[in-house]
Amino acid sequence: MNIFEKDNSFVASTYARFPLNLVSGKGSIVYDDSGKGYIDMATGIAVNTFGVADDEWVKAVTNQLNTLQHASNLYYTKPCADLAEILCNRTGLKKVFFSNSGAEANECAIKVARKYAADKKGSDYYTIITLKNSFHGRTITTLAATGQDVFHNDFLPLTDGFVYAEANNIADLEAKVKENKVAAIMFECVQGEGGVLPLEPDFVNAIFSIAEREDILTIADEVQTGNGRTGSLYAFMNYGVLPDIVSTAKGLGNGLPLGATMLGEKVKDVLTAGSHGSTFGGNPVACAGAVNVINRIDDALLNEVKEKSNYVFNTLKNASGVKSVSGMGLMIGIETEKDASEVIKYCMENGVLPIKAKTKVRLLPALNIGWDDLKKAVEIIKKGCEI
Ligand SMILES: *Cc1c(COP(=O)(O)O)cnc(C)c1O
Repeated sequence: MNIFEKDNSFVASTYARFPLNLVSGKGSIVYDDSGKGYIDMATGIAVNTFGVADDEWVKAVTNQLNTLQHASNLYYTKPCADLAEILCNRTGLKKVFFSNSGAEANECAIKVARKYAADKKGSDYYTIITLKNSFHGRTITTLAATGQDVFHNDFLPLTDGFVYAEANNIADLEAKVKENKVAAIMFECVQGEGGVLPLEPDFVNAIFSIAEREDILTIADEVQTGNGRTGSLYAFMNYGVLPDIVSTAKGLGNGLPLGATMLGEKVKDVLTAGSHGSTFGGNPVACAGAVNVINRIDDALLNEVKEKSNYVFNTLKNASGVKSVSGMGLMIGIETEKDASEVIKYCMENGVLPIKAKTKVRLLPALNIGWDDLKKAVEIIKKGCEI
């Protein structure tokens, strides 16, 4: 059996994989089993923040790997404490719960919001308003939080207590707040899986003013938008707001499984010993790598992200076959005249790997992608869109 046959026979059929067997890489170039190189414009879905086999990150991770790979949360370990301190100092949030994925980071956010509201207002205040077209994960509860019916079918009943408001519709949000006993409003600053759609600043401001007026918590799902992706360390910073709870994962681990739920002043002590936990969460190897990742996302790198973003937007927005370009920073969606799959196929054949978001071509390159690689990739994507 070749690898495609073996995988199709023995791995659960949950993925429609591209017909590529990736074996290695360096920076923004990944290689398949024939030795062909590709410019990586997807980074494993916004995960490989500094590309593949990044020297500094590998060093941080292997040092820890050769020292202590795991201890469990029954004990203290330095990388976990260091990472939590750095995240709090850089964001203004106060405490961090570590887990292993985006879905788990959101599960924690939801548990914190429910407990805070139950303690403060009563156990009937459990509803969480999320947005239509959102994506928050694949567990039964984060599926319930996800405002897209296509993901819900076949798995009912989901966890109770989620209500969906229309993104960028303040009147609808006000109505949903009025009709329900609400614990929190949860949102992505840029809906990633939903098609790379940023929220309008007025709408984000409305979320925060309604939340303050009604004593409702705000939860920013920064699983995809976080860790420098949008040109700020976290996307909420682009809007000048400070959420009560911020969840993140993907790019924080740079390829190792790591989720974080950051808790603001109001909720920092809602969870107490025994009320939540994770065996792997805060794993020293993943955390040692993440300390390196966050420390390198400085103003110089963020400015570079913005410059590269401007370059991609400016090059593609009026190109032939491109209907629109949306997104923020290096999280970019291209609406094409052609079917997005056709454009992606052309790019793959020509050594570039973008992915899809709904009907769009989505770009999520490494934050430190070289200008040469970026320009080469954008030229090929532009050609692929051309009609
Ligand atoms: C990817 C993603 C998730 C789920 O993360 P997993 O690590 O796959 O569980 C949740 N929210 C958003 C916004 C995401 O992009």
